[in-house]
Amino acid sequence: MSGSEPRRVEREVVCPFCALLCDDLEVAVDGNRLAVLAKGCSRAAEAFARPLPDDLRPRVRGEPVALDTALARAAELLATARLPLLAGLEADLSGLRAAVALAERTGGVLDPMAEEGARAQLLTVERAGWVTGTLAEARNRPDLVLLLGDGWRTTAPRLVERVLLPAVRLDDRPRRIVQLGGAPPEEAAIEHFPCPDESLPDRVALLRALLRARSIAAPEPLRELTQAIRAAAYRLLVWSIGSLAQPALLALHAAALTRELNAEGRAIGLPLAAAPGAVTARQLFLWQAGVPDPVSYADGAPEHDPGRWCGERLLGEEATDLLVWIDAFGTRPSPITTVPTVLLSRPGSPSSGTPEVAFPIATPGLDHPGDLYRTDPVVALRSRGLRRTAALPTVAAVLAAIGERLPPPRI
Ligand code: SF4
Repeated sequence: MSGSEPRRVEREVVCPFCALLCDDLEVAVDGNRLAVLAKGCSRAAEAFARPLPDDLRPRVRGEPVALDTALARAAELLATARLPLLAGLEADLSGLRAAVALAERTGGVLDPMAEEGARAQLLTVERAGWVTGTLAEARNRPDLVLLLGDGWRTTAPRLVERVLLPAVRLDDRPRRIVQLGGAPPEEAAIEHFPCPDESLPDRVALLRALLRARSIAAPEPLRELTQAIRAAAYRLLVWSIGSLAQPALLALHAAALTRELNAEGRAIGLPLAAAPGAVTARQLFLWQAGVPDPVSYADGAPEHDPGRWCGERLLGEEATDLLVWIDAFGTRPSPITTVPTVLLSRPGSPSSGTPEVAFPIATPGLDHPGDLYRTDPVVALRSRGLRRTAALPTVAAVLAAIGERLPPPRI
């Protein structure tokens, strides 16, 4: 028994379980139990309904301990670590601010270690730039949509309903949607141009060449598509970099295609990120440190050197001696590693091995309000807290309490 009346919440419920951050869910709250009643996808339904375990105590080497004991042990590990790595970084803005403060204090490295290909994509943007738009533009404006591969379906499960084929659009011009490669779409409204995954970057490169009116051999359907792209007033390219076989090459051609198409008419890219924490972290780093991830405070000032401070490399070569893995949404288990780990994760999340210290923590949007950035990273949403879970501290609270237990900084 929950002790209070079940209630239905129908307004301003933001789902934090992918970077689409759908803000239209209807949920039932019955004490600690949550259920999606309408508008969610199957991922949201499972994630909201995941029950809270009875035992929410922190653990040291698998043994339940008092919060103060766990905080003291985590502080001891951080105080003696040569190069701590704070990664995962799936938290709300205040949790991530606390992570930056802790990295600054301990000379650590911050790296979301998000999707494969995300780093290559960032390098492409840094070198050549791209033209992107918001979900509102993507939903309302395009008359031609090009989906590159089918990774968008798992990265953003409600993309069809929220963006590609919404019930209402501001611009009611007919919209043509074509998917290059991937599995055949289930929606009749989405055309499919089959193409092996590894050839997708070449197809996009071929489209670029055809659009520049090069007289080169190309299959007739691709020629026809070229004409349609040329004739369209507003084109949208969608891709999910983590799902692609050659992410660096694909990001390069997709970014170039959006730039080139803007010479006549309008075109935007919608690169879909998988998780809101990584998007939020990048925005925070940009305005706070002046550089994107990964960010190192090993030498005091923030430094962005993707090769040197890459979290995967630091772990693989054991160049880091402490991993602090943050996963407030329970969507990204910590990597398998021999490096001692301090884990902050949603209770009941799968874990790899036994961490040195584990803190069950509150989930933004479920257990407390929090600010998160969407996949179109100019838009931040405030997710509300739906239930009261006093036994679960926030990421911000745990990291701040660890910081308070560190020895005073050397001057
Ligand atoms: S698509 Fe993403 S944000 Fe929307 S309900 Fe599903 S998991 Fe949540």
